Amino acid sequence: MNCLFCKIIAGDIPSAKVYEDDLVYAFRDIEPQAPVHILIIPKEHISSANELTDENASIVGHIFAVAAKIAKDEGIADGGYRIVNNCGDDGGQTVKHLHFHMLGGRSLAWPPG
Ligand code: AMP
Ligand code: ZN
Repeated sequence: MNCLFCKIIAGDIPSAKVYEDDLVYAFRDIEPQAPVHILIIPKEHISSANELTDENASIVGHIFAVAAKIAKDEGIADGGYRIVNNCGDDGGQTVKHLHFHMLGGRSLAWPPG
């Protein structure tokens, strides 16, 4: 499949891996927007949050549990962080493989633009 993140999971495109298990893969964003900027993605190709159903949505809970682990490892659990999913064109989604941005290590503005 011609999907950038599927290629990263397969190891065909290099990435800075932070965490991996049977279900998810996490790696550093190539254009970090904060001192910690990690992408957490399901190994299963799901195009966007629009494709989540009762059958596959349990992966999202697992992703948040993995995020909590990563936050501790990265030293941002106490300071806090933001987890973001961009969905579709108006949401700013550029890679059509479901992913969650984990941003931390600095104070983040709200609301986003
Ligand atoms: P989004 O705009 O929500 O679809 O986010 C896509 C993210 O993927 C952006 O933050 C990009 O910087 C990031 N990205 C694109 N290509 C790569 C890559 N090869 N390795 C790591 N991150 C990437
Ligand atoms: Zn994919």
